[in-house]
This record gives sequence, structure tokens and C-alpha cells, in this order.
Amino acid sequence: MSHTIPSLWAAPARPPLDLPAPEGEMRAEVAIVGAGFTGLSAALRLAGGGASVIVLDTHAPGFGASGRNGGQIIPGIKIDPDGIDRVYGEATTDFAGKTADTTLALIEAHDIDCDAHRDGWIQGSVKKAHLAQIERRAEQWRKRGANVALLSREEVRARTGSAIFEGGWFDGRAGRLHPLNYATGLAEAARTAGADIRVGAAATQLARQGRDWRIDLANGASVTAGQGIVATNGYSGPLFPELRASLVPAGSFQVATAPLPEVLLSRILPGRSVVSDTRRVGNYFRIGPENRLMMGARGTFTDTPADTAFARVTGDLHATFPETRDLPIAYRWTGRVAMTADHLPHVHQPLPGLVMAAGYNGRGVALSSALGTAIGAHLLDAARPLPFRFTDIRPLPVHALHPVYATLAIWYYRLRDALES
Ligand SMILES: Cc1cc2nc3c(=O)[nH]c(=O)nc-3n(C[C@H](O)[C@H](O)[C@H](O)COP(=O)(O)OP(=O)(O)OC[C@H]3O[C@@H](n4cnc5c(N)ncnc54)[C@H](O)[C@@H]3O)c2cc1C
Repeated sequence: MSHTIPSLWAAPARPPLDLPAPEGEMRAEVAIVGAGFTGLSAALRLAGGGASVIVLDTHAPGFGASGRNGGQIIPGIKIDPDGIDRVYGEATTDFAGKTADTTLALIEAHDIDCDAHRDGWIQGSVKKAHLAQIERRAEQWRKRGANVALLSREEVRARTGSAIFEGGWFDGRAGRLHPLNYATGLAEAARTAGADIRVGAAATQLARQGRDWRIDLANGASVTAGQGIVATNGYSGPLFPELRASLVPAGSFQVATAPLPEVLLSRILPGRSVVSDTRRVGNYFRIGPENRLMMGARGTFTDTPADTAFARVTGDLHATFPETRDLPIAYRWTGRVAMTADHLPHVHQPLPGLVMAAGYNGRGVALSSALGTAIGAHLLDAARPLPFRFTDIRPLPVHALHPVYATLAIWYYRLRDALES
């Protein structure tokens, strides 16, 4: 099966693994639907702990958000550490602060060739009004021993090469990777540990069969397992309608330029940190493979790539780096991010032996790897606690209207961004 994503990542990617399709009546201790970072990291942990595991995906590993993202390995979740302490407790803050460490350690332990580097993350602000929030965020992590620093207007401009920023902070725990190669490498590591990864047929039904879970597949095969994990995130479909209805699958749109000439390469992101900004509908950018400058942003919530969304990101790129105006845009692609109403990741256990994790709100590279690993450890031994308590699945009201809601929300957030100084 080939990589079927027309993105920058698929161009210089490792070849996909040669994986079989599901066949006949298969059995395992744990069955996992979804071969993205969540499902694969759980599979790796489970297989490494001696469990028999089958991973199922309609497509090759990394077909979903995991193979298309910006490759920014950013620790934390959308709320700041003091808030995480209040909502979940200190152990969860500790987990959230270490998700990048966990991801980079996983890559090192399994020797995954995915161009991973720890060059840090700069969260810049183009709004003076957001600087106090950045100061609080950096201070709260600093107090917990994290390698972070507040950046002045001049420092953030020098480190990014862009004059649009008013200030920012640097998080030295963060880094970058080639996401599709990471997904392929995770799949390879899971397979080496003993996981059986089956691709090419969608899971169409998930039902109780005695004390087991039975998953039927589109090609007539089936899998029976004592425990199940649903790791379909922004690509959740009719398999578990309540889960799909609890998430808003937002579009994230990315462009990548032709390789930067040497003169720009020395000015733009000279330290190779990854960057995002504090706006509600902001941009994220980094230098990618072949020294191409990549930028992404939330766009309109349609299923097909919209020219207007790509034009907006390209406009943002040129506003951030006017000297790139003459560089051709060589790649543009999109993927689905799973958003939740409370901006927090959700972990559910709708029935005993069935776990679901989704809703990383665009911060899932490190979080899904660390959470998948934690879910795997928890299923091996229930005494190992999960970092997030199980919550009920709460379908969003009139979910079928989500493209309308979400587009209105984007406009509303853009308006609030625009009204701030
Ligand atoms: C364009 C873009 C840029 C992003 N940039 C960043 C970033 O820079 N940093 C960051 O931290 N996060 C980023 N994210 C978010 C991050 O990529 C995700 O949070 C993370 O990859 C989620 O992984 P996952 O395994 O949970 O889901 P996914 O990778 O989406 O995997 C879900 C899988 O489930 C499969 N599936 C669904 N239904 C079925 C079924 N019925 N049967 C079989 N298989 C099924 C799909 O084929 C898919 O492979 C970005 C996301 C996008 C889309």
C-alpha cells in the first residue's frame, strides 16, 4: 500500500511498510482501530509488554493527521500548568510537561529515522495584549523546572527572522520531526515488537461478543479481542457515531515553499526552532525537508482543500516573511485536526475494555504519542494510572451542522484577534 497523501512529507518519505490486509477470523488480546500516533504508540507499548495486538487501518500508517502535520513536537496542552494542576492534578501537569521528552525518547529507543531534533519551540505574539499571558505561561513552566525563557521583541524577531512579533517565549523541551517517517517508523517498531498491523479495510462495526469485542471489517474479515482501543481521532466515522459527534474535525491547511536560498536560510529561523503564535486562529511555521519554509493555519471547515484557505496561508507567509514573495509555493495540503468544545483531550471508556482517546486540538504530535503509550501501559496493568480521567462521550448538539458552526467560530475568533492590539 502506498502513502496516499499528496503532501510535502510524502515526497521525500521512507517507503511505506509492506503490510497485509486483515483476513478471516483473527484474534488478539487487544485490537486497535487507527494507525496514527495514538494507535501505534499504544500498540508498541502493549506488544513490548508481551500482549498480542492487532492494529487496523483503512490506509497505510500515518494516513490521518499523523502523516500530514507540521511535525512540531510541543509539550503541554492548551491550558497552562496551574490550570492543569487545578483540573487534573500535578501528576497530569508532569505528564503534559514531559510529552516531548517521551516522544523523543521513543524515537531514540527504537532508532526511528524521522529527522527528529530538539531545537525548541518559540511561541510568538503579534499582539501586545497577549504578552502578559505568555509571561505567566513561561513563569509557570519555569517554576516547574522546564528549560524555558521569555523572549523580548528583539530576541523573538532575531530568532524567527520575522518583524511581526511583539514578544514571545522559548520552550527548549520542544522539537521537530518528519511526521510521516515517524508514523512509518512507529509502525515498524510496533511490528518488530510483535504487533500485527493490518491495512486496506475499514472497521465497519464494533460490538460486544460475550466478554470480548468483535470488529467487523469492510473486506469480510473480523477481529475478536478482549480489549479494544479506538484511535480514529479527526478521521472518526460511522464506526462509533457518538465519538465522531463529540469532535469537530477542523481543517488545517499547510503550504511549503521551494527550497530557501542560502541568504534566506541564514536569516529565517537560524536556530531551526519551530514557531506558532498566540492568536486564536494563528499560524505555525518551521523549516522542513530540503530547507523549505512551511506554514500552516486553521482554514474553512470543508472536506476538500479550499483555494481561499491556501491563499490565506500564503498571504500570512508573505506578511510574516516579505522576502519570500518571489519563492514559488511547491506544496499545499490539508488534514483533519480533532477539536473539542473544552479544548482538552478526551479519554473515554464507554464500556469496560474499550478505550478511546481523541481531541488533541492541534497539539497531538507529542501528546498522542505519550497518551497512546500511557493507554498501552494502563491496559497491561490497570494499576498504572492514565493522565486524564475517563469522561462521558458528549455528542455536540446538532453535530451535523459542524461545518457551519466551525466556520462561524473561525470568523468570530479572527474578528476577536483583529480587535486586539
Ligand atoms: C495539517 C495538520 C498539521 C498539524 N500540525 C501539528 C503540529 O505541528 N504539532 C502537533 O502537535 N500537532 C499537529 N497536528 C495534530 C496532530 O497531527 C494530531 O493530533 C495527531 O497526529 C493525532 O494522531 P491520531 O493517531 O490520534 O489520529 P490520526 O493520525 O488522524 O489517525 C487516525 C487513523 O484512524 C484511521 N481510521 C479512521 N476510521 C477508521 C476505520 N473505521 N477503520 C480503520 N481505520 C480508521 C484513519 O485512516 C487514520 O489513519 C496537526 C494536524 C494536521 C491535520
